[in-house]
Amino acid sequence: MRIGAIEAGGTKFVCGIGDEHGVIQDRISFPTEHPDRTLLKAVDYFRDKGVTAIGIGSFGPIDLRKDSPTYGYITTTPKPGWGNCNVVGTLRREFPVPIGWDTDVNAAALGELKWGAAQGLHSCVYYTIGTGVGIGLIAEGKRVHGLMHPEGGHIMTRRHPDDPYHGLCPYHGDCLEGMAAGPAIEARWGRNGSELAVDHPAWAMESFYLAEAITSSILLHSPQKVILGGGVMQQAHLFPMIRERVVRNLNGYVNAAQITEHIDQYIVPPGLGQQAGLCGAVALGLEALQHSAASVS
Ligand code: ADP
Ligand code: ZN
Repeated sequence: MRIGAIEAGGTKFVCGIGDEHGVIQDRISFPTEHPDRTLLKAVDYFRDKGVTAIGIGSFGPIDLRKDSPTYGYITTTPKPGWGNCNVVGTLRREFPVPIGWDTDVNAAALGELKWGAAQGLHSCVYYTIGTGVGIGLIAEGKRVHGLMHPEGGHIMTRRHPDDPYHGLCPYHGDCLEGMAAGPAIEARWGRNGSELAVDHPAWAMESFYLAEAITSSILLHSPQKVILGGGVMQQAHLFPMIRERVVRNLNGYVNAAQITEHIDQYIVPPGLGQQAGLCGAVALGLEALQHSAASVS
């Protein structure tokens, strides 16, 4: 089976072909430019690939309401050209196959549930900490949607007592993304995170903010696995720091062995590594195919 997959990021687009086991057979990547150009490149890539479905995990905010006239659109992004952009419709015009559509982080969470670190479970939360912060959520086996979709990157956290930084979210200033995304680290410390030593105070502060959010995720949604990906999490020494702080924050209140005894297997990197987003898009395509088969049978 050949499922087309798109990981539509604000910085780069990744397109690929995967099978029903989530194995990626081919992939290309190109920078995200004006949608006319970028979506055309995606369409060109899939043209002779014989895909039976397509899954798209996209940066957002996006419209996921099936009954909405703008279903399949990226909605209010400030990214030039992408506001009110009909992503699903553009693909649908060219490919008469089922198309799955969700946020990049919900897609990655689904991929991890199906084939990665949360395999065999029915819930997980997936964080990406990169250019922005995004949080995808699966509960009872389903991707969580609602009014629109969770936008957990913008939640408010307590402020680190030694942090005078105002935060760089254009909407909220010091929300989680404003304080903990890669560009916030760079703005606060004057150097890119990849250049900071492992004992630099930046990392204690970073793990403070991420642990604040993860503690809230655990208390709000009780996920069976917390998965942390994105460029900033390439700093692997953050994992033990975050785990320790989460345990401290919870202070024995959530009395589950996953937290009190096996936190190192509970807060983990993506099992699918850098492929989480693309595999997630394959999983979205597969789901769309299964739904369309169920609705015609
Ligand atoms: P995107 O979020 O655009 O999809 P990434 O997940 O790669 O892409 O995140 C890019 C951000 O992560 C940048 O702000 C960059 O500074 C930061 N970053 C990338 N690699 C590292 C690293 N090894 N250590 C710390 N920060 C990093
Ligand atoms: Zn914000």
